[in-house]
Amino acid sequence: MAVKGWIEVNQMFCKGCELCIDECPQKVMALDMEHLTPKGYHPVQLVAEGCTGCAICAIMCPEAALTVYRQAPVKAVTS
Ligand code: SF4
Ligand code: SF4
Repeated sequence: MAVKGWIEVNQMFCKGCELCIDECPQKVMALDMEHLTPKGYHPVQLVAEGCTGCAICAIMCPEAALTVYRQAPVKAVTS
């Protein structure tokens, strides 16, 4: 089963620099052109399925605006 991840964007910190978008290996991020942050930037968002929760985007972000979550794998129970 593929690992599933997702991100949370802190709208107070994201400045729409696109560094995370360039570095995402899954290419599932883009700027949200329909919204502005309180500081007037277009924030990043997930735009497709396929985030693996690798956290490369969060590591690259100079503003520490991203929190990455990863679905814990379900362990099979054997007796
Ligand atoms: S989340 Fe960080 S790296 Fe991505 S666009 Fe916003 S400020 Fe830039
Ligand atoms: S956690 Fe990895 S796959 Fe998911 S958006 Fe960030 S860089 Fe892309």
